[in-house]
Amino acid sequence: MFADILLPLPLFSTYTYSVPVEMEGLLHVGSRVLVQFGKKKHYTGIVTATHSNQPVGYEVKPVLEVLDSKPIVRYPQLKLWNWIAEYYLCSPGEVYKAAVPTGLKPESETVISLDEDFEAPEGIKLTDKQSAVVALLHAKKKLKISEIEASTKIKNCARVVNNLIEMGIANISERVNERYRPKKVSFIELTAPKGDQNGLRKCFDAVGRAPLQEKALISWLDMSDWMKQYAPLKDVTRDEFLATSGISPAVLRAMIDKGVFRQEKRVVSRFAPSLSTEAPVLPTLSSAQNAALAQIKESFTKTPITLLHGVTGSGKTEIYSHLINSVLQAGNQVLFLVPEISLTTQLTDRLRRIFGDALLIYHSKFSDTERVEVWKRVLESNGPLIVLGVRSSVFLPFAHLGLVIVDEEHEASFKQYDPAPRYNARDAATVLASMHGCPTLLGSATPSVETYYKATTGKYSLVTLSERFNGATLPAVEIVDMREQRKKKLAKGIFSQPLRLATKETVEEGGQGIIFQNRRGFAPVVVCQQCGWTPKCHNCDVSLIYHKNTDLLRCHYCGFCQPLPKMCPACGQNSIQVFGYGTERIAEEFQTEFPKLRISRMDLDTTRNKDDHQEIIEEFASQKTDILVGTQMVTKGLDFEKVRMVGVINADTLLNFPDFRSNERAFNMLEQVSGRAGRRQESGKVIIQTTKPDDPVLQFVTRHDYQGFFNSEIQERHRYAYPPFTKVINIYIKHRDAMSADMGAVILAKALRNHFGDRVLGPEKPFVSRVATWYIQSIMLKIEAGASMKKVKALLRSIEASVAEHPQIKTSIIYYDVDPV
Ligand code: ADP
Ligand code: ZN
Ligand code: ZN
Repeated sequence: MFADILLPLPLFSTYTYSVPVEMEGLLHVGSRVLVQFGKKKHYTGIVTATHSNQPVGYEVKPVLEVLDSKPIVRYPQLKLWNWIAEYYLCSPGEVYKAAVPTGLKPESETVISLDEDFEAPEGIKLTDKQSAVVALLHAKKKLKISEIEASTKIKNCARVVNNLIEMGIANISERVNERYRPKKVSFIELTAPKGDQNGLRKCFDAVGRAPLQEKALISWLDMSDWMKQYAPLKDVTRDEFLATSGISPAVLRAMIDKGVFRQEKRVVSRFAPSLSTEAPVLPTLSSAQNAALAQIKESFTKTPITLLHGVTGSGKTEIYSHLINSVLQAGNQVLFLVPEISLTTQLTDRLRRIFGDALLIYHSKFSDTERVEVWKRVLESNGPLIVLGVRSSVFLPFAHLGLVIVDEEHEASFKQYDPAPRYNARDAATVLASMHGCPTLLGSATPSVETYYKATTGKYSLVTLSERFNGATLPAVEIVDMREQRKKKLAKGIFSQPLRLATKETVEEGGQGIIFQNRRGFAPVVVCQQCGWTPKCHNCDVSLIYHKNTDLLRCHYCGFCQPLPKMCPACGQNSIQVFGYGTERIAEEFQTEFPKLRISRMDLDTTRNKDDHQEIIEEFASQKTDILVGTQMVTKGLDFEKVRMVGVINADTLLNFPDFRSNERAFNMLEQVSGRAGRRQESGKVIIQTTKPDDPVLQFVTRHDYQGFFNSEIQERHRYAYPPFTKVINIYIKHRDAMSADMGAVILAKALRNHFGDRVLGPEKPFVSRVATWYIQSIMLKIEAGASMKKVKALLRSIEASVAEHPQIKTSIIYYDVDPV
């Protein structure tokens, strides 16, 4: 028997391995296997097919090990991986790599060791460094170079190790490590089974006159409910027991030795079991919500995909809950996709209260080990469950989905930009749904132009919810012209008079405010006043941003940082100044302007740890803070009763970006952030500061006029042949050498033009044309909607192959971004 194996590498085909007879019954499509690939490396592959066709032309290697008794990938998933690879022009191996948590894909690593019966060689004098390494290896057996380096603190460790290998003292080999370790906890059990009074007496006898031990035994009986006739026995962990009884580990050991207790290690879930509710208590829907729910259910019988266009605060979540409930009742599973962790915090609480343990969470702040655990739970579950998750949760091994929900479907963060697969999780989720034969519900207050177009042209069903729940009104929007504010000397720093007044009024009346600025850090512009020097990133074509709390200049693309120089490195003068406003500075200036206010900040810098996000939200929810300043993290999904005011510090940064989605992005962002205000009875106010008050986007936001915005935008798209009237594929070519990137791009563009004519635009330098030491050039391909994308993609592949050997292209990397956002 042979098996085709998919490897977690950017390869365009699977590889065939032979299956040893003893493994034949153990190995199925979807099984994880360990195989050798290349000279030495071992990888975890996934079986995609088994057959009896002996491959010709190369020597077939055997499968080394089958890692699980059951497949860890289900058949529909493999189909989805293939679809993603084909549609987004990458390899199935790259999809596999992104889809499965690292802990489930052990691969070999190079390790250094000494011989079993190692003895210090005679006559060879080792250097101090060499001796240190030998001593370490002698004690620890097999180590990676990085581990040796960490233990010995020797820099240039690889050279020392190489010398040892050359001298025949150390060996190099490959070791496979299963990275995922189940969490094990020690439990303390009484040796007498519950109810065995005789056994219990023996235990007391064994304890004898040791008062500490007697007390400990009583305390265990109490903790475990051993004595309670009708209560089930409770588990007592070793840690709890030691803490409650107050005895030392030595006393516990003595009791174990006497045969009173036994200690047992068990595998436990990393997730605290949550309160499971008996029967879900669903919110009672308003009549508008009920009508929408009925329409959605009806629409599922007509089209596989439905768009719920509900204004902010209309209660889309409540409608989702009802839909989820009926799917669970029918025994099916639900995938509920949300764009970012920031949305999950509040949603988790709301859904947990209704669905209890049926709810699983999968988000980007999870450790890999936690991801493995969610994966396993989904894999083991054939019953009803909901996964609330971000982008990558489309890859989980669902058994039978009954519904897919994509909330905030317009969000750009559903699209993975780097590395491959550059997939849009919203679109992949609809494909996944169709593979499971279930409907997809897309929800948004500001649907993407493409989605709304499909909904108005009959491809999707459209259900509209145009009022907020409970009679709340959409907030009043005021556009503030900052040029005028400055001319009339009404502005103080970045604060216009209306924003200051609104803040004062809001807080005096016991309300809260959200302030949005599109940029983190303290100041985005750092300039020498004498000579005009500005700090640039060494690896990227961008300026560095000043962060005050760390006093560092930081690159927001690659993370490079350096201290803010005291003297200008170019002219030596003490004349470096910072300009512009990031969230850090805005929070600070707000504090100066309103010393009594409690201000918190939410951006990438303040949410680096797993729970930071939740803490900031909880503080704000319980009104321990008055004003929340933040980046786009504060613009979405948040639902706070007391938020009456929303301020946008500078809308200019959102308007007039040089790409076809700029209007859409600006409208969505501003309408969504506005939507955080006045979500209950009290009406809300939104202040948008700008120097372009007449921009049409701002006018649509003022009227909360999605329809109007869409009508104007769809005409633009039509006029300039952009999606949904065309399909866009961006083709990137990158090289570490600027000239090669330029010339490679010219050659590639020419080859593309030969086939696609004037559907090819460029090459040009993208907005940021050097990232992490790579020079980048981009070419845009626009294909008429309705053309066969299969053919287009096949053609792209063959064009790429035809130029691949060109000296300028051979050493560069070409990749594709299909449906860029
Ligand atoms: P959306 O997601 O459409 O912006 P939400 O689902 O967050 O709106 O609802 C807005 C607020 O109104 C939430 O606080 C929610 O709890 C409340 N709400 C909406 N519908 C109901 C309902 N049927 N019963 C009780 N509260 C509701
Ligand atoms: Zn950088
Ligand atoms: Zn200078």
